[in-house]
Amino acid sequence: MKSWEKNIRRVEPYVPGEQPQGKDIIKLNTNENPYPPAPGVGKVLKGNIADRLRLYPDPTIGSLVEAIADYQGLDGDQVFVGVGSDDVIALAYLTFFNSSKPILFPDITYSFYDVWANLFKIPYKQIELDKNLRIRKEDYCIENGGIIIANPNAPTSIYEDLDTIRYILDKNQDSIVIIDEAYIDFGGKSAIELIKDYENLLVIQTFSKSRAMAGMRIGYAMGSKTLIRALNDVKYSFNSYTLNLPSILCGVESIKDDEYFRETVEKIKITRDKTMKELEALGFSFPKSMANFIFAKHKEVSGLKIYEELRKRNIYVRHFNKPKISNYVRITIGTDREMEVLIQSLKEIIG
Ligand SMILES: *Cc1c(COP(=O)(O)O)cnc(C)c1O
Repeated sequence: MKSWEKNIRRVEPYVPGEQPQGKDIIKLNTNENPYPPAPGVGKVLKGNIADRLRLYPDPTIGSLVEAIADYQGLDGDQVFVGVGSDDVIALAYLTFFNSSKPILFPDITYSFYDVWANLFKIPYKQIELDKNLRIRKEDYCIENGGIIIANPNAPTSIYEDLDTIRYILDKNQDSIVIIDEAYIDFGGKSAIELIKDYENLLVIQTFSKSRAMAGMRIGYAMGSKTLIRALNDVKYSFNSYTLNLPSILCGVESIKDDEYFRETVEKIKITRDKTMKELEALGFSFPKSMANFIFAKHKEVSGLKIYEELRKRNIYVRHFNKPKISNYVRITIGTDREMEVLIQSLKEIIG
């Protein structure tokens, strides 16, 4: 090893879902929205924004911050926007998780949580879900340096009600508690309403799933002014111009078109509920999904086999080669047509 090599940071990175590029692929592996974003987004991109790219974008992302704050019934200084919620969560780790006590999160959850902890050298403890993949709220009453919970959880799709979140907040008034609500628009009730009661609560949402804008990279955090100010201080110590101009403009267009947003979310929920029934008839079981994906296992055929056989048929779902969940596949809700093809293929595979 050359001596400079010793100074290279070694990390085990997060592995994102495959992004196959070919045509005729049914892509149900990264929880993207099967529908396009609001029509106003397309209009912005067809306009003359190139003329404005000479200048730096607004470092405060003010127009989008205000649009989100208005929409969520918050003040502008209670909203922080970043480059996807991955960026916002990473920054929140850097800003809020500076204790020598471990941060807590479930053992089965978004697999980025431990990657960031390792990257930032934050101690952490993974709390086991119960046998039904549910959070046991009592397990979060131990000493900790912070808590992060995805609600609905990924990849389980399970939503825990706000009484559970409130319980965890009540028992952890000395910690910052982050609720990652990437999938909240597909059914659950947001913890935003708890922000007024808990200054230590940060709620994070994204435009990537329900707003069909994964390619734009917009995420945001909401919380007390104290938390948002701290996030901004860290952001301005790292990179002032995070969101690019097209993303800012397109984000505002998406928020403006609430009717389109509600319509597409509703379509996905209807397809989801229909798909749950069809999967059940084929011998699959799964928790009740409150997200835009279903986490299913079959009574006879293994998760790996289902994943591989679907892949041969150009259908991509997600399989996690991890203890406790290796028998499951996570299936994103696509269009009705895509789900018909999926169900047809599953019939063949199961035989
Ligand atoms: C998709 C997802 C994210 C990241 O979303 P981006 O905004 O695209 O970075 C964060 N948390 C969970 C639980 C997710 O599923």
